[in-house]
Amino acid sequence: MALAENIAAVRDKIAQAAREAGRDPAEITLVAATKVQTSDTIRAAIAAGITVCGENRVQEMTAHLADNAYEGAALHFIGHLQTNKVKFVVGRVDLIESVGSEHLLLAIEKQAEKMGLVQDILLEVNVGGEESKSGVAPADLPALARQAAALHHVRLRGLMAIPPAANIPGENQPFFDRMYQLFVDIREEMDNNKTVIDCLSMGMSGDYPDAVRAGATLVRVGTALFGPRPPLHP
Ligand SMILES: *Cc1c(COP(=O)(O)O)cnc(C)c1O
Repeated sequence: MALAENIAAVRDKIAQAAREAGRDPAEITLVAATKVQTSDTIRAAIAAGITVCGENRVQEMTAHLADNAYEGAALHFIGHLQTNKVKFVVGRVDLIESVGSEHLLLAIEKQAEKMGLVQDILLEVNVGGEESKSGVAPADLPALARQAAALHHVRLRGLMAIPPAANIPGENQPFFDRMYQLFVDIREEMDNNKTVIDCLSMGMSGDYPDAVRAGATLVRVGTALFGPRPPLHP
């Protein structure tokens, strides 16, 4: 596996897409989606320049943390989070990207208060309106964002989305454009000296250049860095 070459190729594509959109490539952070990777692979990725790892599963993340696998990089939680597992994530990650309900938001607030810290979060938006996916509906986002911004132990930093799987290049452009508009609206309403709305997380291996052109500040890339994963349910 040519990890360093893959990282360089993805960074090149990010930079090219950014320039096409008149953006500074430095505005975009590559998050390595490390699900199913070993602690050694994660260490190799960080040694090769990865600065942020994104984890999906609490159990895997807990094992990698015990191994110190993420040392030298920031850590984001990007997967579906059940409220009974919140205690294993709050305070252990720099950013929880996948807060898609009031129920989860309040559970994180409660745990962060208990631990005496402030947890950075993103709100996950179900921009494709898919029943199978978590995330707040776009229509319900403003109310949830206001609620998050008013809490004392979470700090709302922006939005995240997992649009439908794209089969054709450009297929998800309308969803990315919609997300950028929602992000701008939230930022205009809430960005002040207390709340800094600076994260828009969207784009995966199949579509991250489109996401960058549409305004993403974080792209979450797994396959294009590490190669194909084994099927989840063989
Ligand atoms: C796995 C995963 C990614 C990366 O997906 P690839 O298609 O392998 O790049 C991004 N975001 C989330 C939430 C993921 O679970």
